[in-house]
Amino acid sequence: MSDVIIVGDGPAGLSAALFLAKNGQDVTVFGVNKTAMHSAKLYNYLGIPEITGSDFQKVAHAQVQKFGAKIQDQQVTSIEKTAAGFAVSTESGERYESKYLIIAEGKSIKLAQSMGLTITSSGVEVDHNYRSAVDKLYVVGRSTRLTRSQAVISVGTGAVAALDILATEKGKDFVDYDTVD
Ligand SMILES: Cc1cc2nc3c(=O)[nH]c(=O)nc-3n(C[C@H](O)[C@H](O)[C@H](O)COP(=O)(O)OP(=O)(O)OC[C@H]3O[C@@H](n4cnc5c(N)ncnc54)[C@H](O)[C@@H]3O)c2cc1C
Repeated sequence: MSDVIIVGDGPAGLSAALFLAKNGQDVTVFGVNKTAMHSAKLYNYLGIPEITGSDFQKVAHAQVQKFGAKIQDQQVTSIEKTAAGFAVSTESGERYESKYLIIAEGKSIKLAQSMGLTITSSGVEVDHNYRSAVDKLYVVGRSTRLTRSQAVISVGTGAVAALDILATEKGKDFVDYDTVD
């Protein structure tokens, strides 16, 4: 059983994975790297003058794995709420469980819909920490802002949800700051 399962390996899901794995959570990300990022060349990601979306994805995958996040190269076919948290089923028929679940499925919103979450014209309804109406279920990234999606925003939403989970687990507010020495 993972602490956190993340469905979706675009910028939003990988950002959540980075913050969570770096801070000691057992994280499993599901995704087959089929993100719109592969069509993009970014000139608007602050701090990186230019990068192709494919290079961004390559760096991001390596970065999260360095901190111990596991990436399962599989499509998730269904998710369900269980007594202990959540269970996800994959196309190969395997079932994985976790305490928290983060949906970062991009524009598809199929899994969010399957959980009965409210969808408006802007996307899946969440609060300012990207919590959904279901306890311990978060939705981040493009799914929450379908028509105003930018990579840098998706990365921010993943970080916000991760900090909320870390704060909940620690029972107090939490920030992930590193210093020069
Ligand atoms: C042509 C084009 C150019 C763009 N250019 C820019 C740009 O210059 N600058 C910029 O900021 N943004 C740009 N974007 C937008 C950018 O690509 C998105 O904002 C960003 O990809 C959103 O990240 P995300 O993680 O929210 O969603 P996504 O990147 O869509 O990631 C979602 C991931 O979840 C996976 N997934 C979905 N369902 C499942 C499932 N059931 N099981 C497993 N995995 C699943 C998908 O395969 C995908 O990998 C561009 C987009 C396009 C189409």
